[in-house]
Amino acid sequence: MIPISKPTLPDLSDLSDKFEEIFKSGQLTNGKYVEQFEEACAAQAGTKYAVAVSSCTSGLILLHKTLGLDGDVILPSFTFSATGHSLIWNNLTPVFVDCEEDSCNIDINRVEAMISPKTSAIFGVDIFGNPCDRRKLKEIANKHGLAFIIDSAHGLGSSYDKQKISYSTDALVFSLSPTKVVVAGEGGIVATNDEQLAAKLKKARNYGDPGNYNCEIAGLNARMTEINAVTGLASLRMVEDNVTRRNFLAQKYIEELSVLEGIAVQKIKNNSLSTYKDFTIVIDEDKTGISRNALQESLSGMGIQTKAYFDPPLHLQDAYRDFLDMNKENLKITEHLSANCLSLPIYSHMTDEDQSFVIDSVVRCLHK
Ligand SMILES: *Cc1c(COP(=O)(O)O)cnc(C)c1O
Repeated sequence: MIPISKPTLPDLSDLSDKFEEIFKSGQLTNGKYVEQFEEACAAQAGTKYAVAVSSCTSGLILLHKTLGLDGDVILPSFTFSATGHSLIWNNLTPVFVDCEEDSCNIDINRVEAMISPKTSAIFGVDIFGNPCDRRKLKEIANKHGLAFIIDSAHGLGSSYDKQKISYSTDALVFSLSPTKVVVAGEGGIVATNDEQLAAKLKKARNYGDPGNYNCEIAGLNARMTEINAVTGLASLRMVEDNVTRRNFLAQKYIEELSVLEGIAVQKIKNNSLSTYKDFTIVIDEDKTGISRNALQESLSGMGIQTKAYFDPPLHLQDAYRDFLDMNKENLKITEHLSANCLSLPIYSHMTDEDQSFVIDSVVRCLHK
């Protein structure tokens, strides 16, 4: 079976000395490797501060909390569930905006119409590693006095308009879980230039405790362990090579598949670089003669794992049914992408042979 994704891990032999040191010292969390990893992540993201947390989900939950967001938050519905869940955990109301068909990112031209006096933030997502248009989104946020944050779970290693990935954002959160490009086992990073926000986040990840057990907010235990930090540090050193390799694989997919009638590929815009955390095609059944679901099933029969990201989109998930009435806005492109997108196998150490097999298999399915 060719998996959809596989973590490209550093050599265990390069890490074992450090693991041994951590075990001997007994300093399993809150130690020097977490600090080193935070510095390295801040440099990669282009921010002054990076706060390591236990996951992207916990980082997002704590970010909304420490920013003091209230009321409504504007976000795309075409995203992973945790984007929306982080709002629900803060009693915030998700206000969904449709996405663009080509970039799969939030449609910047539809954002302003959804802003109301209750809105406190615009919440972008870098879908599949493709940076959303942070320059435009920040302009809109500034005009209306809103916070502007990004779920960049897929984006550590991406860049926007030849700038660092943090460009024009108040804060963004990366994921380091095994399906992402930089892997720490589990983990997340909140990156920001705001010193006060970073200090609050460091307390928030430690129950909200400033150090005297008189907690300032109801925080979480969202700390990162030293073991995860050592793994993440080594993985981050590989990020440039891995993103280069993924872009090479993506170009090959684009060359071979986008010429086929009825197959579209995600468009990376704004002079940006994507991590290609996922490589995703959109199938037009009228032209290919095969539906997304049928293609997925055929490929599975050929030993190729694919995923129908993100189906169902947030606004159609059971956990969001209470918010549907409030989101009557047209989410047609979101529903179209959810019904017709298929993410193909891509990982940094994928061989050319395995990729050729995937490409040949897709072509064979279409011409049946
Ligand atoms: C994976 C993912 C998350 C959650 O990341 P965790 O580190 O697993 O909590 C959040 N948002 C998006 C878009 C994701 O793909």
